[in-house]
Amino acid sequence: MVAGNWKMNKNLQEGVALATELKNNVTNPQCAVVIATPFIHLTEMARLLKGSPIAVAAENCADHASGAYTGEVSAEMVASTGATYCIIGHSERRLYYHETPDILREKVRLALDNGLRVIFCIGEVREEREANCQNEVVRSQMEGSLFDLSEENFRKITLAYEPVWAIGTGLTATPDQAEQMHAFIRSTVAERYGQAVADDTTILYGGSCNAKNAAELFSNPDVDGGLIGGASLKAPDFMTIINAR
Ligand code: PEP
Repeated sequence: MVAGNWKMNKNLQEGVALATELKNNVTNPQCAVVIATPFIHLTEMARLLKGSPIAVAAENCADHASGAYTGEVSAEMVASTGATYCIIGHSERRLYYHETPDILREKVRLALDNGLRVIFCIGEVREEREANCQNEVVRSQMEGSLFDLSEENFRKITLAYEPVWAIGTGLTATPDQAEQMHAFIRSTVAERYGQAVADDTTILYGGSCNAKNAAELFSNPDVDGGLIGGASLKAPDFMTIINAR
């Protein structure tokens, strides 16, 4: 899978223009392609991309089903637009909006209950990498929000390893660092759900992945694709990354 995360970029008209360019060019990809857009784009994106190989994702959803939560958007609302995926646990949500493992567990539950597939982000901050405790951090993120899921539901999760120090910084994990962590993540999934589930789990790399470094990162056996921020905002770059998978 190659998934784009537009974050808080592109107004509706700009988003439609980018999605149209992608639709016209991404005709027969070798991998699943997803674009995650702001909420206000979702209905239009789902309509525009219907019948194309590009699926639509929300970047977040609420941790409540419905009710008096001004400004929030529920998983049910996301699903009603025609979007089929939801990113949950992005480091920007954890950091700026104080989303805890418990909150994220609830979001995952609501997304799955409403028929969405989940791209769940995990990854350590720079200090944790420097202290060499990245494995413990990532393991506890998975245990805290995912590992009470049934096997059937866990199979609807795509994991995205995003070292926080690499997001939007131009610092990319080396192919070796990415492979080591992805192999660790897969072995942790195997401990919980068994090897067959681990082998079937898609684990994306995210963090300054771009048109130049994608092919090398994706050549690792445990790197199943990418979650792409900045480089997903320009159609030619995003298409180069898709073709690198
Ligand atoms: C992201 O935010 O998910 C991401 C990977 O961003 P960037 O590619 O810009 O580092």
